[in-house]
This record gives sequence, structure tokens and C-alpha cells, in this order.
Amino acid sequence: MDKHHAPVPDRYSRQERFAPIGSSGQQRIRDSKVLVIGAGALGSGLAEMLVRAGVGSLTIIDRDYVEWSNLQRQQLYTEEDARDRLPKAVAAEARLRSINSDVKVQGIVADVTVYELDQWARDQDLILDATDNFDTRLLINDYAMKMDIPWIYGACVGSYGMSVFFKRGLMPCLSCMMETIPIGGATCDTSGIISPAVQMTVSLQAAEALKWLSGCEDSLRNRLVSFDLWNNQYTSLDIRSARRADCPSCGDKASYPYLEAQHHRKTEVLCGRDSVQIRPAKVTKVKLPDVSDRLRAIGLIVQENPYLVSIEVNDKQRVVLFGDGRMLVHGTKDLVEAKIIADRLFG
Ligand SMILES: [Zn+2]
Repeated sequence: MDKHHAPVPDRYSRQERFAPIGSSGQQRIRDSKVLVIGAGALGSGLAEMLVRAGVGSLTIIDRDYVEWSNLQRQQLYTEEDARDRLPKAVAAEARLRSINSDVKVQGIVADVTVYELDQWARDQDLILDATDNFDTRLLINDYAMKMDIPWIYGACVGSYGMSVFFKRGLMPCLSCMMETIPIGGATCDTSGIISPAVQMTVSLQAAEALKWLSGCEDSLRNRLVSFDLWNNQYTSLDIRSARRADCPSCGDKASYPYLEAQHHRKTEVLCGRDSVQIRPAKVTKVKLPDVSDRLRAIGLIVQENPYLVSIEVNDKQRVVLFGDGRMLVHGTKDLVEAKIIADRLFG
């Protein structure tokens, strides 16, 4: 018998001995399919926990490749992966398979749009958010509400993190809570991140995942939890009353606006130039002086006038941000690369 597929009766014994899960909960976990969107710090931690916990299948999608600056906190990757600049989804798949060969692991190298969600999320039992930007989260939210798939929001930066479990009919959704959850601003590239903040956020997400997958709905948290490990602050907010009957994403007359093309972030290569234009999903009024102060404070070279801020990303690439949220990424013709650069700066 192939040693990798030999049954190992003891493998999940400690998880089964945990009374709320037991052997029936373990069987449910084994029968479940999970999609992780993003294979950065949160995605690495979430995927490893769930693969070790013995889910039936795990699909992980990511658009980026491994870099040296990832190794401090992105636990699935090695120096060799950074040296080879392996796509994260490829490196993650190989590592996850070596951790648990019982699990059907699939790594997908892609930038997530409606098309990718339709292809990879449709038949999943749970979606885990490990993205680094709000446009993708709003897309995941609308798709998950429409298809009635639960999803778990997670975000962290600096020493701060937060998580919420979303399920149509049971909880409010991300659109219901737009005023409560801070959107954009600090990112790990601009404000840094310590790995305990990652692991805490992963734990908050993974605990809800195990409750849901093992059939322990009654134990779900029903709260938005946030923490700051450096300033020693912990908050927990009951969100059940935040549900809005007229919500465009989960209300009675939901129209799922973020699944429609006019609400997507638009990227295009500018004709005849080594530049990509990114137009945001929603026109927003950007406080340009705040942006330039924040980026200058972390040592970036920033120039500004009343209409735009220009940021040197490196010696080849420069981002220009306008007051309506529109951006020009100079020094690339690659749409995905341009989005990666923009999300690293602005989230
Ligand atoms: Zn809603």
C-alpha cells in the first residue's frame, strides 16, 4: 500500500477527543470543501490549520509570488521559494500536500474576479478571506450572499487585527457593516506587521471555520472581534442587530451590486505608455495630504500638488494617485502587477 495513503487511525484523535467536535464532527470536517482566497500571511496560516484539521478538500487562490519580505510571517514558504520566486499558490500547494496527503489540495494562480469565484467557489462549504484589499472582499461578500455560502472576514496590519463570520440570514453581511469596518488606509507594506497579529487573526477565523464545518453553529461567535496586541486592547461587538433589511447584498431585494461590471475596479494599459490606469469601484474623495503624510512617514519619496500625489515605489515604478481615487501605475504594462502594487500601498 502506498505509505502516503495508508490510514492513520490516530491522526485526528486529539481533535476528536475535544467533546464539541467528537468523531461525528470530525467526519463532517472530512466531508467539507473549503476555499481560501489569498495565500499571504493569513492564507498560509488558515490553509495550514485546516489541512492539519483534516478538511476533505482545500483550494487556495493567489496572484502573487514569494518574496524575501514574506518569510517573516508567511509560514508555508521557505528561502528556496523566495529564491525561485515561486507563485504562492504553487509553493503553498506543495507544502500543504506534504503536511497532509489525505486532503485534496489545489493551488490556483489567479487574480480573483467574478469569473474565478464562479469557477472555484460555487460548490464550497466555506470561503475564507485572506485578501489584502476591500474590492475583492466586497466581491466575495456579494457572491457568498447570492450563493448562500458562509465566509469569514479577516484583516490585520501592524499589531492590530479583526475578524467576522458572515452568513446570509444568520448574520449581517459586509455591506450591512460598511460603516463599522474601517476600509483601506494602512497596509502591511506601509505600516508593517508582526506575526503574532497574523496568528491571532488566523485563530479567530479558523475557530469559526471549525465550528461551522463540524456542525456546531450554536457556538458561533456572532461578534466582530478586534484586538491590538501592542496597545493591549481587545474589543468584541455584538453585530446581530446590524443586519439591514434594505441591504443591497443580503436584503430581501438584494441586487448584488459588486457582481456587476460597472462596480468593479477597472484596470487598463494606457495606449503607447508603460503604464496601467486603475479606476476604483466607487469614486471616493481621497484626502491627498493625509496620504502623502502617511507615505512620507515611512520613508517613501512622495511629491504632491492639490490634485495628485506621486509616489516612487522603486527605481522603475511610480504610482500617481488622484483626488477621486484613480491611479496611474507607471513602469508596468501588467494589469495584475499594477493591482498588486496599488493594494500594497493603499489596501
Ligand atoms: Zn447585508
